[in-house]
Amino acid sequence: MRSTRPTTTQTTCDCEDCESFTLTGHLRRTPVQADRHHMQAAADGWADVEARDYCPGCPPGLPVEEHDHEGLWVDDEPQS
Ligand SMILES: [Zn+2]
Repeated sequence: MRSTRPTTTQTTCDCEDCESFTLTGHLRRTPVQADRHHMQAAADGWADVEARDYCPGCPPGLPVEEHDHEGLWVDDEPQS
């Protein structure tokens, strides 16, 4: 599910029981910035299937029991 607010664009996993989401903040959201957020989500492994969004831990081709519901296994973020 995608939600856009004046300063953020968020994609939330539509899998049951999964609370993963990716959020991009903007000083002032424009359509270009929203597009960039969705492109980044796709690059991180998010899937967009029939207007539903799935995090990298919930590949829509797999049965739900095999999902790990961990959208953040893409760990190329610097650890703090
Ligand atoms: Zn998920």
